[in-house]
Amino acid sequence: MPGKLIDGKAIAEQINAETVAEIGRLKEQHGLTPGLAVVLVGEDPGSATYVSMKDKMCARLGLHSERVNLPASTSEGELLAILNDLNFKREIHGILVQSPLPPQVSAGNILAAIDPTKDVDGFHPLNIGKLALGDSTGFAPCTPAGVHELLIRSGVKVEGAHVVILGRSLLVGRPLSLILSQKAANANATVTVCHSRSRNLAEICRSADILIAAIGAPHFVTADMVRGGAVVIDVGVNRIEDKAVDKGYRLVGDVAFDAVAPKASLITPVPGGVGPMTIAMLMHNTVRAAQMRHGVA
Ligand code: NAP
Repeated sequence: MPGKLIDGKAIAEQINAETVAEIGRLKEQHGLTPGLAVVLVGEDPGSATYVSMKDKMCARLGLHSERVNLPASTSEGELLAILNDLNFKREIHGILVQSPLPPQVSAGNILAAIDPTKDVDGFHPLNIGKLALGDSTGFAPCTPAGVHELLIRSGVKVEGAHVVILGRSLLVGRPLSLILSQKAANANATVTVCHSRSRNLAEICRSADILIAAIGAPHFVTADMVRGGAVVIDVGVNRIEDKAVDKGYRLVGDVAFDAVAPKASLITPVPGGVGPMTIAMLMHNTVRAAQMRHGVA
């Protein structure tokens, strides 16, 4: 089993080490410290945990970080004014607004208000457009970019492979399909994107050389849906009740790992697979934003 596991933690640490080295170079040669601002609206405990993980990672890797905590009652106008300030702030190279946002705020208006050159989360329409156009000067969303890096650094041949992606969300499935179908090195895949209206899902999954599950349904992908020798990437993070642990729950993916792993040639665990890559790519994107702003790539 260990030989089959794609160790997302270890690969994320490789990327983090590269990020630390680049931050060192930027400081030494250009007196530049890349900075990330994270905006949290409301008190959703899951969001607060993600945001504090990002703060800690910035501190660990040597990035400047600023946190903006706002009450759940914040109006769209107030949030837009804060983003406008961050857009002009010299010490800040990357801006991330943690989702979900409260109902009085339009996520679309907020994403569009972030300076695209500081949009290290990669969801500004301009960056999504650049991704669709194959223009590499934009930022790709962190989770799909992390999945791509996992595949590359695990030596998986994406070129010409049939990749089946379960899920078409703007956060994961759709941008991932754009990345893997690019006419570019380490891409050139034949991509099928499935969703809740797809027919013959199991049959489509069985035709995959690389199967990527991003739907948010615990243990949805079963062994009969996987061709022997396929590479299986599990993006899902789901809480299921577990009275045996103190918290009362544990995290599982969208793939029934124990049943699927024996059939797969490579597989990601949950946790410890895609999760650590998302934050590593965010840090990487922030450093790239600083390089691009100051012309010091
Ligand atoms: P989402 O916005 O809810 O989208 C889910 C997608 O899955 C939709 O396209 C939906 O189809 C499809 N789907 C749902 N049930 C299905 C079914 N039974 N059969 C086929 N397709 C189905 O979710 P998301 O934001 O993409 O997140 C997906 C999972 O990834 C979640 O578990 C989330 O926690 C996890 N995630 C992990 C990371 C990480 O860093 N590891 C980052 C982001 C997300 P329709 O479009 O037809 O509704």
